[in-house]
Amino acid sequence: MVASLILNSLLFNNRFLGIEWHLWKVIGWAGTLIFFSRFLVQWYATERKKKVVVPQAFWWLSLCGSLILLSYAIHKRDSVFIAGQALSWVPYLRNLYIHRKNKAAQVTCSACGTLNPHTHQFCPSCGGVLGPHR
Ligand SMILES: [Zn+2]
Repeated sequence: MVASLILNSLLFNNRFLGIEWHLWKVIGWAGTLIFFSRFLVQWYATERKKKVVVPQAFWWLSLCGSLILLSYAIHKRDSVFIAGQALSWVPYLRNLYIHRKNKAAQVTCSACGTLNPHTHQFCPSCGGVLGPHR
């Protein structure tokens, strides 16, 4: 009873959520969901650290979501939508590159295992002296 009530409320005109589903609609919705999920990832990371954090996953989700949305926009031949997504991948790739470069330059604290910028002399987490390979 409850299941059929829920199912009936999700189906309008025999369409799930009233949407006419086909392959490109699935691709467009997948792009939208991937692009939106980046905010959840960033919010979670920020709440966890209690400071504003933009994790690498945010940029990967941005890149993947925007490229999927760009392909959908091109398929739909929507100039506004295409213009909005056409070059957004440039800063996403740049931020991923900078993330990778910074991570490679980090020093692992031998006492607590925390990653620290190579410019730090002491670990802010435990106060340990960071490695000689600075
Ligand atoms: Zn440490």
